[in-house]
Parts: sequence; C-alpha cells; structure tokens
Amino acid sequence: MDYQNFFTSALDRLQAERRYRVFAEIERLAGRYPQALWHSPEGPRPITVWCSNDYLGMGQNRDVTRAMVETAWRLGTGAGGTRNISGNSHPIVELEAELADLHSKEAALVFTSGYVSNQTGISTLAKLIPNCLILSDALNHNSMIEGVRQSGCDKAVFRHNDLEHLEELLQAAGDRPKLIVFESVYSMDGDISPIHAICDLAERYGAMTYIDEVHAVGMYGPRGGGIAEREGAMHRIDVIEGTMAKAFGVMGGYLTGTKAVMDAIRSFAPGFIFSTALPPAVAAAAMASIRHLKASSSERQQQQRQAARTKAVLSSVGLPVIDTPTHIVPVMVGDAEACKAASDRLLEKHGIYIQPINYPTVPRGTERLRITPGPSHTNAHIDALAAALVEVWTALGLPLESKVQAAE
Ligand code: PMP
Repeated sequence: MDYQNFFTSALDRLQAERRYRVFAEIERLAGRYPQALWHSPEGPRPITVWCSNDYLGMGQNRDVTRAMVETAWRLGTGAGGTRNISGNSHPIVELEAELADLHSKEAALVFTSGYVSNQTGISTLAKLIPNCLILSDALNHNSMIEGVRQSGCDKAVFRHNDLEHLEELLQAAGDRPKLIVFESVYSMDGDISPIHAICDLAERYGAMTYIDEVHAVGMYGPRGGGIAEREGAMHRIDVIEGTMAKAFGVMGGYLTGTKAVMDAIRSFAPGFIFSTALPPAVAAAAMASIRHLKASSSERQQQQRQAARTKAVLSSVGLPVIDTPTHIVPVMVGDAEACKAASDRLLEKHGIYIQPINYPTVPRGTERLRITPGPSHTNAHIDALAAALVEVWTALGLPLESKVQAAE
C-alpha cells in the first residue's frame, strides 16, 4: 500500500482548488510592532504587519514580557503535567480569579487555547445536560462546531444573527433543554451579535447561553470584558469564553460561569483533564496583560481610532472595504487566486504583510484581505497601505469603486 500517496494526493487536491497555504516566515521584533522581519528567499527584509490578532500589541508590552521572563526564571518553563497530576500553579489560580472578576462571574477555568476551551467546553456542557439541543449560529468558529459535533447532541443551526430563525427553532424544540452557542464579534465579517435580544429569547424559551468573546475581550467594555461588558449583558450569559492569545497578546483560553458549571467542566472535560496545564510564566504574562487592560483604555481607544481611519482612507480610494462596527477591516476580493496574488504582491513589492483569507475560513466567493490595525499603526502607515493596495488592485485588474463610478 502506498500510504504516502494518500497524503500527497490530498495535498494535490488542495493545490488544484487553490487552497494550499504557504506561510511566510515572519519575525515580530519586540517593541517594534508593526515593523517586522520577513525571511524572504533573498534574505531578511523589513516589512509592516497588518494582520496580527495581537490587536493591541500587548504581546510586546514590557510589563507583560517581564512577567513572563521573571516567572520563568522563578518557576521554570513548563507546568510539569496536567493539573490532575501536578496540581495548580499559583499563577493559574490567580489568573482564574482575575478572569472571573473580568466577567463578573463566580469562577473561571483556563485551558491551553481558546480552541480547546470551546471544543471541550461546549461538548462537555451539552453532554451533561440530558437530551440537550444545541442551537448554533451559522458562522460560529470551527472550535465551536467541533464542540457541538463532539457532544453527540442534536443541533439546530440558525442563520447568522437571525433572531426570527433562532426563535422558530427554539419554539419548535418545545420544553427540552437547550443551549444557544454564539459569538460576540465575528472575526471575518467584523459584525456583532445582538446579545440582549438573544438573551431575551433564551429567557423566554428556557435556554442556557454560551458566548465566544475571543475577538472582543480586551477590546471592548470599560475594563476590556468584551461586548457583553460594554452592553451590560454579562450577567445574562451563562458561560463566557475567551482567549488570552489575541488582545491580551499571550496564549491560552478560558471559560467563566458559575462555580457549579466550572467545577463540572473541570471534572468532566477531557480537553482539561488530559492536557498539560499552561506554563506558569504564560499564566503570569496573561494576568499582567489582563490587569493592564482592565485599568487602561488608551490602547483600545487608539486602536479604534486607527481602525476607523483605516476604513475611511481605504474606502476613500475606492477599495471594497466592509464598514464594520468593530476593529476588523475586511477588504473583499471574491476570488481565491486573486486574493493570494494580492497578498503576495503586497509582501514582495510593498513590504506589507496581510495573509489571504480563503475558503474554508470564509465561504467561497467571499475571499478577502482581513486587516487588523493596531494602536501603533501610524497615519503614515495607513496612507502607505492605501497606496499599496491601490497599486495591487490596479495591477491585478481588481475593481476599484471610484473607477466603476467614473465609468458609469
Ligand atoms: N474562537 C474564535 C471565534 C476564534 O477566531 C479563535 C481563533 N482564531 C478561537 C476561538 C480559538 O482561540 P485560540 O486562538 O486561543 O485557540
């Protein structure tokens, strides 16, 4: 049997569908973001990064870095095992208290990633609820979809942010137990879910609620508690999930909720029980970052200003920007090959790094460049980005709105 052939032909299929991904080798130099080094085939080249999910640059913050380094010197690099085997490190205990406080919940539980927290959290919760029906937003992240799948429970997918459809499905479900799983900020379209309205439906139809605030924690709310904090809805949601890998700039995921729910997940979730805990140094760095962003809004305010300016400048030159209500700036391409070509040309010709976003991350025909301005992108960076994108759009024959209008 030619086992290798199974893999090479799977890769060939990806290549044929233009979905095969190649990652540029990038070094984000501490303290210099958004400047970075690209190890190009011709050697290292300085570039400007426009696609990091370290939205606020906290991964380069001196206090956060110091917390990681000092804790590593004091407590070593690894956690030494799963928490069932090696116990809790003090930084993880402190971090969980900090996270519970961030979301005004009784308890929190930390995982090695946001992905794991969703996958094992949703599947464990739903399995523990007898005859549970999971109602899941159509644009939920893959980690949530995998959690739903792994639970083995019945599921009903509601159209994205569509309250009428959600209500129809809730009504049809009768009195069986129900769990609604959804996000606050959807990372590819940059739109926001109607949290209060979903909670109203959950109350009316007796459903439990689970929200993924991965793209919102640190970014919204007076203390960076996310969209639910901003909208005064945290107390209405049963489980709030987040990551420490995006706005907090470190690594690791978490769930927050009541003591009973967190204790049940701690006691039953395989992704918690059987996986080595986060290193104490990572937990300490995450805590430093969360504490910083609880007290300081200047990073998120500056980020919002630069995101608004980026949207305004890019659309003023005719680029097809989605006018999102968030910090995410999608520029639509609508074709996988063109999207990859645009990304390549931006890097090679302009020293600008923006990975193409293709299927299955987004539906076919909606391929895009997903731009994430940070607080340290200057107005000059934004102007240079706009000029580079216009050059790329022109070179690739992609439509610019002002040109379309001019031709009409
Ligand atoms: N949820 C959403 C909505 C995400 O976009 C992601 C990561 N891209 C995750 C969860 C997973 O989080 P992490 O990167 O911490 O694993």
